[in-house]
Amino acid sequence: MTYFRPSIDDLAGYVPGEQPPPDAKIIKLNTNENPYPPSPKALQVLQELNGELLRRYPDPMATAFRQAASQVLGLPADWILVGNGSDDLLTMIIRACTEKGRGVVYPTPTYVLYRTLAQIQDADIVEVPYLEDYTLPIEELIAAQGAVTFIASPNSPSGTIVPVELLEKLATGLSGVLVIDEAYTDFAQFNALELIQKHDNVIVLRTLSKGYSLAGLRLGFGLANPTLLAGLIKVKDSYNIDAIAIAVGTVAIADQDHKNANAQKIKDSRIQMALDLEELGFTLYPSESNFLLAGLSPTLAEKFSADSAEFLYEILKQRGILVRYFQQPRLTDKLRITVGTPEQNAALIKTLRDCLN
Ligand SMILES: *Cc1c(COP(=O)(O)O)cnc(C)c1O
Repeated sequence: MTYFRPSIDDLAGYVPGEQPPPDAKIIKLNTNENPYPPSPKALQVLQELNGELLRRYPDPMATAFRQAASQVLGLPADWILVGNGSDDLLTMIIRACTEKGRGVVYPTPTYVLYRTLAQIQDADIVEVPYLEDYTLPIEELIAAQGAVTFIASPNSPSGTIVPVELLEKLATGLSGVLVIDEAYTDFAQFNALELIQKHDNVIVLRTLSKGYSLAGLRLGFGLANPTLLAGLIKVKDSYNIDAIAIAVGTVAIADQDHKNANAQKIKDSRIQMALDLEELGFTLYPSESNFLLAGLSPTLAEKFSADSAEFLYEILKQRGILVRYFQQPRLTDKLRITVGTPEQNAALIKTLRDCLN
């Protein structure tokens, strides 16, 4: 006896990365948060918030934020749809476009939430493995003809990016919607935003969670032509973004200098961290994001007499460093490690070196 639909009973449920209490003495490199504080201008707005703002319902379309984002991106405001994190946009897209017989397609390994949301909707799911070097399996993705195809670029957990030409080929070959999830774009060398002007089935997703150090605020947005956005607006919660997020996010996205300076620091640290991890014997994938996917090389696996990286995750955790371990195909011999401050990264490397000796 159960109160739920069979698909909900069968659902494992999305398991987010661990979030220890903020005062815990832990080096947190497990959920790709930005190690630097948000824009001081945005924090000032937060401190000066007026109770009147909370008494009233928020603007359902977050117009102020849309206008600020429009300025930054050089796109009309009606090409922007705001969500309670970009996860909210993923939910809107799945709700509006998929059901049984109208499926969801994505390459794996990738962001696990795509699968969870599709299962909740009872949509069919086609998972196509990335090639070993994380080249996009484009022919198979096109052949699957999803009502929605998700590509995270840069991808998580690999950190790899898909060339814009390939995404464009995919957009052309698909009759359904192509979602390009650019949660990590602030750490990448290029993005695919130009495709929304050329292809009416493409939506690009962005977030303030990673580049702007505002994961706790819950603010993301989708960029697409107004016709595509109109369908999503029909299914969104009326007041999906709260008044605080609109006020703070509007100032945060306008402060590009602050975001870019932090992104540069992280990209610099990423180079150092990659060198250090390689020196310790880990195998890496080229990362265009704020994390690295580090695999046990055969030498390391032998040294630890283990082919799973889970024990390393455990050892690091015991020593106060949280990283991400995924019990999933192709990932059990790897750790996903967020790039932190130089001090945090040095502590990670030192701890790993101690473990190795
Ligand atoms: C972090 C992340 C998101 C979610 O971002 P929010 O805006 O915090 O909901 C979406 N996609 C990928 C691939 C991510 O890693």
